[in-house]
Amino acid sequence: MAATTVTRFAPSPTGRLHLGHAHSALLGWRLARESGGRFLLRIEDIDPVRCRPEFTAGILEDLAWLGLDWDGPVRVQSEHLPDYRATLERLSGMELLYPCFCTRADIAREVAAIGHAPHGPDGLLYPGTCRRLGATERAERIAAGQPYALRLDMAAALRRAPRPLSFLEVGRGRLRCDPARFGDVVLARKDIPASYHLCVTRDDALQGVSLVTRAADLLPATDLHRLLQSLLGWKAPRYRHHPLLLGADGRRLSKRDNAPTLAALREAGHGPAAVRAMAEGAARG
Ligand code: GLU
Repeated sequence: MAATTVTRFAPSPTGRLHLGHAHSALLGWRLARESGGRFLLRIEDIDPVRCRPEFTAGILEDLAWLGLDWDGPVRVQSEHLPDYRATLERLSGMELLYPCFCTRADIAREVAAIGHAPHGPDGLLYPGTCRRLGATERAERIAAGQPYALRLDMAAALRRAPRPLSFLEVGRGRLRCDPARFGDVVLARKDIPASYHLCVTRDDALQGVSLVTRAADLLPATDLHRLLQSLLGWKAPRYRHHPLLLGADGRRLSKRDNAPTLAALREAGHGPAAVRAMAEGAARG
C-alpha cells in the first residue's frame, strides 16, 4: 500500500494572505484531500519582529473562509524553540557549527578587503572570518557576553554528507543539489534562536510531511534543506514548487507589491468560490 501523502501550508504571519498564498494552500490541500492524505497547517513565526499574532489570526480566518480545513493542531513554531535548540545541539555535536560574532559592518569591511563579494541564494556569502578564530578567543568572547550567531561550516558539512545530494521534484524528476552556494549559512541568528532553514527542515521531518508544496522562489533553498536532512538522518520529502503568481501587469504577486489580500477581496464583495477560482486560475495562466 502506498504511504499516505502528507502536505502542509507553512505561512509566515508577516501580513495578511494574498492570492499567491491561497494558491499554495489550495494546491497542498487538494493534493492531500484527493489522495486521502493529510493537510497540515504550520505558522512560521520564528521572527518576533516581523511576525504578529493578529496576522496569525488573519491566516486562520482567511483559510477557513476559503473553505480549507487542516488535520490536527496548528503547529506554531515559536512554541517549539526547544526542538530547534536540540537540532542545533546535534549539529554542534557533529562539529558542524561555529559561533559568528560579526556585525553586518564587520562583514562588509572584510568583503571590501577581499575585493570581491560572491552572492548565494540568501545574499552575500560569509567570508569565513569567525570560522578561523581559535578556540581560546571563541571561549573568551562568549564568556564576555558578546552576541553571536551560529553558522554551518559548509565545507565540513559537505565532507560529512553523502554526495551527490538530490531531491525528487514532481513533474521534473530528480534534481541535483548544490548546497555549497549558500556558504556558511546562519542557522541561528543573534536575535532569533533558529533560522527558517533549520526550522522548516526540522518541522517537515517531525510532522512526517511527504510532499512539500511551495512557491518556486524557495526552490534554491531546497538544496540546503536536503543537506540538513541528510546530516540529521531525516527522510527527504518529495517537492512540488509551483510557479509564482503574476498580477495583471505580469509582475509577481507579493506582499511588498501590494498584492490584493484575501481580506480585501472579501471586503470588495468576492465570495470564497470566486477567490478560489482566481487563485487557481492565476497559476495556470
Ligand atoms: N514560511 C515560508 C514563507 O511564508 C514558507 C516556507 C515553506 O513553505 O517552506 O515564505
